[in-house]
Amino acid sequence: MKKSMVNFHIMTLFPEMVLDGLHTSILGRAAQNGHIAIEAVNIRDYTLDKHGKVDDYTYGGGAGMLMQAQPVYDAYRAIIDRIGQEKKKRVIYVSPQGRTFHQELAKELSCEEDLIFLCGHYEGIDERVLEEIVTDEISLGDYVLTGGELAAMVMVDAIARLVPGVLHNEESAETESFGNGLLEYPQYSRPEVWHEKRVPEVLLSGDHAKVDAWRLEQSLLRTKERRPDLYERYQELQPPVEKKRR
Ligand code: SAM
Repeated sequence: MKKSMVNFHIMTLFPEMVLDGLHTSILGRAAQNGHIAIEAVNIRDYTLDKHGKVDDYTYGGGAGMLMQAQPVYDAYRAIIDRIGQEKKKRVIYVSPQGRTFHQELAKELSCEEDLIFLCGHYEGIDERVLEEIVTDEISLGDYVLTGGELAAMVMVDAIARLVPGVLHNEESAETESFGNGLLEYPQYSRPEVWHEKRVPEVLLSGDHAKVDAWRLEQSLLRTKERRPDLYERYQELQPPVEKKRR
């Protein structure tokens, strides 16, 4: 069976920032083991401007500079020429104007073979090239960053850890927050007593059924308290019998 792998292509003006951040720890190991591949494509390498400029003033006036269409488009073409276009590739413009990123979207994107990320800077990017190449516009949240690099890194991290083989213990992605629609239960490690706080007795019992039941109960309590929106959705998705019990 073909090993699943995601190739991340990140179009940016700051390739070192992206590569340094993403080739660390678990993702660095995953790249070494061939579960993912991360390349940063420097948009500046594709400008036709002899001074290496990639930005200019915005028509109509206003503060700040805008990334121009030409270098962005040529950088994109170079990636597509290299990886091929048998299947339409998803091109994600990370932008405060997109739909908000979440775990289900990360899961969906982790099934793609290639993902192209486009990071804006300054005031953003000329709308015309966005119209031509972008398939998805995704935001990290309702705030404005100076550039798209941190947003792309966050998204690549969340997607990559869902690629089979990236996490050693496959179970951990499923039991983690959002994996089953709930927040994860509280967890404890050694020692049994710390600052006079004891680890809950049930976790020392060795009774797996009891531990599972306690964890589910804690997940439900925590989600209800901290994220009532998630809790309500989870409840709606439960079969009628289960719903009655809770
Ligand atoms: N002028 C743009 C606006 O008001 O919508 C903001 C541009 S921002 C200063 C520069 C770049 O940072 C954007 O092109 C985008 O790539 C990135 N960025 C900023 N905030 C972001 C967010 N919340 N999520 C994802 N990317 C973001």
